[in-house]
Amino acid sequence: MKRFVYADNAATTQVSQEVLEAMLPWLKDGYGNPSSIYAKGREAGHAIETARQKVAAALGAQPGEIYFTGCGSESDNWALKGTAHKLAAKGKKHLITTAFEHHAILHSCAALEKEGFEVTYLPVGEKGIITAQQVADAIREDTALVSIMYANNEIGTIQPIAEIGEICRSRGVWFHTDAVQAVGNVPINVAEQNIDMLSMSGHKIHAPKGVGVLYIRRGISIPNLMDGGGQERGHRAGTENVASIVGLARAIETACADIPAKIERVTKMRNRIIDGLLQVPLARLNGDRDRRLMGNVNISFPGVEGESLLLSLDLLGICASSGSACTSGSLDPSHVLLSIGLSHEVAHGSLRISISDWTSDEDVDYIIENVPPVIEKLRAMSPMWEHMQKGEIVL
Ligand SMILES: *Cc1c(COP(=O)(O)O)cnc(C)c1O
Repeated sequence: MKRFVYADNAATTQVSQEVLEAMLPWLKDGYGNPSSIYAKGREAGHAIETARQKVAAALGAQPGEIYFTGCGSESDNWALKGTAHKLAAKGKKHLITTAFEHHAILHSCAALEKEGFEVTYLPVGEKGIITAQQVADAIREDTALVSIMYANNEIGTIQPIAEIGEICRSRGVWFHTDAVQAVGNVPINVAEQNIDMLSMSGHKIHAPKGVGVLYIRRGISIPNLMDGGGQERGHRAGTENVASIVGLARAIETACADIPAKIERVTKMRNRIIDGLLQVPLARLNGDRDRRLMGNVNISFPGVEGESLLLSLDLLGICASSGSACTSGSLDPSHVLLSIGLSHEVAHGSLRISISDWTSDEDVDYIIENVPPVIEKLRAMSPMWEHMQKGEIVL
């Protein structure tokens, strides 16, 4: 029986019913401008401040440390460019990040390199995990910022954030983490983990697209990315997206409630998919098996074209991804898979399945039953697979 199985939660998630219901009043009667002084405006302003408190509580921050932005990418841009421009005045023009960050980080770094900043891209090894020691060794006198993603969006590997935070704090270097994939999947406490700045996004946790957060620890001040009105205490101009901000706050409350129970349930399903798909000859799991997000499966099937695989799965009702959504449509293999040492040929035939706590056991069965025959069919038509079997392409 054909099913519809949404297994691309790392690309985006469906807005939940409770989020939608929390938002609706602010899309209809609650249309006041939060900056207006009459009651209709003040109500909207109050909704934003309540949302700020909820987000702060979920992250272990203070409400005054939470800034609403237009998306996760904006938060990343603001943290990196703001810090770089602030600390350049003190002669600090060096940044440290990893080779497999999201493009919001990597392209911000590239823009800063053009302005004369220097960036160290730490290698992530074949397991896709960096060590705190690597960070310690890379810090210099002139290092302005360390930015390490909490969890990778393609292979799901989780980085030792608290250890890195401790090192950065002791060396007096600001520490930013792109936690877009981690929020709701890993317990986060910015104060305990010595995180100075943290980015997150609404649409990865069942809130709408087009709303994000940047946490900036009290005591840190960086220049604005967006200038204009005095919204967000003068730090991020633009009339607030009240409904989406309320939706994000509702979503983070649910996402961060009882994470351990969710991890136990979803990890079982994830491991069932991993074990099922690794039955396919020459399949390999990308990224560390255990230190990865509860919902992330990323497996390479040599001899298969990622795009053909996705289209075949689409016909079966399965939504998945090969590499990241941002790069599908381009023929460049994923920089994340190359960073853990995959060849171009193998990287091309990789499948990311990202499940969530909305996924059912029946969905998992459907994936395990339907993916292997598709691989077999595609390989039977693939000249590349023929070459690989003859040993003419080294894997
Ligand atoms: C999705 C994602 C982003 C970008 O967030 P948007 O809200 O889509 O701009 C940044 N970093 C990571 C790790 C992501 O997964």
